[in-house]
Amino acid sequence: MRDPKGGQPRRRGPRPQTAQGIELRALGKIEPGEEVTVSYVDFLNVTEDRQRQLKMHYFFDCTCEHCKGHIKDDLKMGGKEVDGVKVPEEQVKEVTEYSLQMLQKMDKARLEGNYHEVIKICRECMEKQEPVLADTHIYQLRMWSTASEVSAYLQFIDEAADYARKMVDGYNKLYHPCNAHLGMATMRAGVTHWQAGKIEVGHGMICKAYAILQRTHGPTHPITKDLEAMRMQTEMELRMFRENEYIYKSMREAALKNQPMSMMNEPMAESVKNLFRRQKK
Ligand SMILES: [Zn+2]
Repeated sequence: MRDPKGGQPRRRGPRPQTAQGIELRALGKIEPGEEVTVSYVDFLNVTEDRQRQLKMHYFFDCTCEHCKGHIKDDLKMGGKEVDGVKVPEEQVKEVTEYSLQMLQKMDKARLEGNYHEVIKICRECMEKQEPVLADTHIYQLRMWSTASEVSAYLQFIDEAADYARKMVDGYNKLYHPCNAHLGMATMRAGVTHWQAGKIEVGHGMICKAYAILQRTHGPTHPITKDLEAMRMQTEMELRMFRENEYIYKSMREAALKNQPMSMMNEPMAESVKNLFRRQKK
């Protein structure tokens, strides 16, 4: 798993344990003798936090180019720019600290399974964040991510689609264009738009996610296969929508009525991350 420009702490990893069935996929050309690296921690943390985690769990000081150069830290903690004017630093700092407290409150409510409380906290926090923080600010991205997941679960589909879109816009500015996390988030956003009846945006996102996962997960991976099927289905629906919007909408409504209300999986903590969980020995 090579991560050329995408970012993340690098360090020489252990030898690939092919005997245990680990598949490595290169995202770019590897020159002979070039160091192959893997990220140990989530890139959506600032350098200081990543280094702290690496020291605590892996016992080394990371000296990768991202850590040395504090690459994208400014975006991850950045303030919004309105008509070329930056929000004062003091205000950004204040909302950042407030967000951190709200994130802790939100995590607690989430662990308790109190999803209506989670969404209430998210809405309250986002109202303060959106006029002040950049769309790449990681505390805002965390709020959008949870808000989108939980509101989809509570069947607030339009709201879920809005948050998912903001989240993906931010991710696009932070992640390497071929990053697996970006691919998974784009897929989730695409499906939510599709469910919300926003077929054009939904199909576009599903195509994009498919292109990423074909490279990061490979064409035969079950998620890639699912995406391929969704891509074909949404393409067909989009064609129908363009031919006759009215017929498309009434068919969609009829289909929804005939379907028992489908419950989505409970938004348990970090469902996306579980897909990347390391195999236990
Ligand atoms: Zn590093």
